[in-house]
Amino acid sequence: MKNIVIFGAPGSGKGTQSDLLVKHYGFDHISTGDVLRAEIKNDTDLGRTAKAYIDNGQLIPDGLMIDILAATYDALPKQSGVIFDGFPRTIPQAEALKTMLATRGTAVHAMLELDVPDEMLTERLINRGKVSGRADDNAETIAKRLAVYHTQTQPLIDWYEAEGLRHAVKGYGALDDINAALRAVIDNIF
Ligand code: AMP
Repeated sequence: MKNIVIFGAPGSGKGTQSDLLVKHYGFDHISTGDVLRAEIKNDTDLGRTAKAYIDNGQLIPDGLMIDILAATYDALPKQSGVIFDGFPRTIPQAEALKTMLATRGTAVHAMLELDVPDEMLTERLINRGKVSGRADDNAETIAKRLAVYHTQTQPLIDWYEAEGLRHAVKGYGALDDINAALRAVIDNIF
């Protein structure tokens, strides 16, 4: 069982690259953003709570997010590996993921970081907003999400570096080249 965290700022291409890796390796994929958007679509209690944070560019509180992650992970078929996309986003989430996997006899095996300059992220998210219909892909919320990324999520780079799990790749250029770089890391580890 391989547990891989795909890491990067909003707009860094985590979802796109996860989809390509899933296709190539047959891994399961947990996108916490997708899980929350499905809850919003179904108008559940959780969806209503999540919407207030998401529309404001803020993170869902750690305790709630960790419970959602564990439930989603336990419901997966877990054939050969899992890609965690959009989780963890804070140090308490990374610690909780480590504990959660340890209690299940496994661990995170790699953190793949997509490096993309901020001005490129803003441009990508603005463009995505024109087609995605995502309420949080507007200029004001994008700026908030990037600020939240820098203060709450970016510290995870050093955290995973200290764990000896961090592998950074250039997250811009041709999609296939980025994916090849990610696959090279994965193939080198397993
Ligand atoms: P994403 O699709 O990964 O960009 O996530 C969209 C939004 O969902 C984020 O801006 C957060 O509000 C929320 N979200 C997704 N994953 C998490 C997480 N791990 N912790 C807290 N909030 C999250």
